[in-house]
Amino acid sequence: MTRTILMKYGELILKGANKRSFEKLLCDKIKARMRRLVGDAFEFECMQSTLYVTPHDDSRVEEAYEVLKKVFGIVSLCIAYRAEKNMDDIVKVACENIPQHISSYRSFKVDARRSDKQFPLTSPQIMAEVGGELSELCPDVKVDVVSPEIVVRVEIREKYAYIHAGSEHGAGGMPYLSNGRGLLLLSGGIDSPVAGYMLAKRGVEIEAVHFESFPYTSERAKEKVIALARCLCEYTDRIRIHFVSLTEIQEAIRDNCEEDYFTLILRRFMMPLAEGVAKKCGAQALITGESIGQVASQTMSAIAVTDCTTSLPVFRPCIGMDKEEIVEIARKIDTFETSILPYEDCCTVFTPRHPRTKPILEKVIKAEARLDREALMDRAMESMTELVVEL
Ligand code: ATP
Ligand code: MG
Repeated sequence: MTRTILMKYGELILKGANKRSFEKLLCDKIKARMRRLVGDAFEFECMQSTLYVTPHDDSRVEEAYEVLKKVFGIVSLCIAYRAEKNMDDIVKVACENIPQHISSYRSFKVDARRSDKQFPLTSPQIMAEVGGELSELCPDVKVDVVSPEIVVRVEIREKYAYIHAGSEHGAGGMPYLSNGRGLLLLSGGIDSPVAGYMLAKRGVEIEAVHFESFPYTSERAKEKVIALARCLCEYTDRIRIHFVSLTEIQEAIRDNCEEDYFTLILRRFMMPLAEGVAKKCGAQALITGESIGQVASQTMSAIAVTDCTTSLPVFRPCIGMDKEEIVEIARKIDTFETSILPYEDCCTVFTPRHPRTKPILEKVIKAEARLDREALMDRAMESMTELVVEL
């Protein structure tokens, strides 16, 4: 028995002249992932908007399937049984393997497609023959051509025929690296890893910046951020994290500014510092996990007061989402359990008792007037270190 993972890609079909380069990114990604898993011991092909991966060692198919489920750009995938292109072998392979996939359903139908029009039988003839054999083997599963519970597909392709029952959704989105580079402001919380995942899914290459505040934040808080980046690497393969210290800035804010404005002023440092990091690493946009109204610093007025400190576009993919919706994605991408570990973030150091929810820009600027912003930011940038996290 030989099994092949068949993958279809979606949106990139629509991209006209770019199709080639998107397709190449996707193929490279799939090959790189397979190489990491099984070395060179697999076959790979890309034909007619379908990608074919066949591990030489059939016992690795399920493992490969799980890895390929996390490749952006693939809309659906399935494990198919490969047969020679003659009806004897197609029927034999179908009868040996498909009953176990359909026996728990009440109805099925066989759908056949021939991209090789030289094949001697027509699609309806293939459907009738394979359907007839399968219904003899599975008498409790009725043939229902109108609304079957499961569809068995026979695809006659260029080199082989493929038979499968039931495909799944792939990771969707666009191939990673196909849409520029963004700098994710990665805290240890629930929202920012989700924001990074959502932009990565649209093909944006993710770099990250994390602001720390030793000794007010701990080594464990930093390790948590690294662990979150590693979860995202399941999709991106690698992420470079830039660490910038806010300790001096936070102490200066604490010592010189009105308490109600602490968080806002801090965020008015974070955005331009992130912009500085973005310039250094060639990122064209910032990405945050903000959600409108979630906390005092994420009201419309508060975002307006912090947003004007950077000229880069700021992408906030969680902006219109409820916390439960964000948590659902965090669970899906396996960041949730790490995110809820109770280590402090720099934003929770020196938090005001009564943060302003409707700040006025002039007043914030006045409140921070006693700080030497330029000098503080220069020294924070000098503190920058980086770490590459890989799968
Ligand atoms: P999270 O969004 O991470 O769950 P949160 O909801 O508490 O945290 P805030 O603390 O208000 O949100 O932060 C809003 C956004 O600012 C975060 O989503 C993240 O993008 C960014 N951010 C917050 N703290 C940091 C940090 N220490 N380093 C980098 N970015 C941060
Ligand atoms: Mg948040």
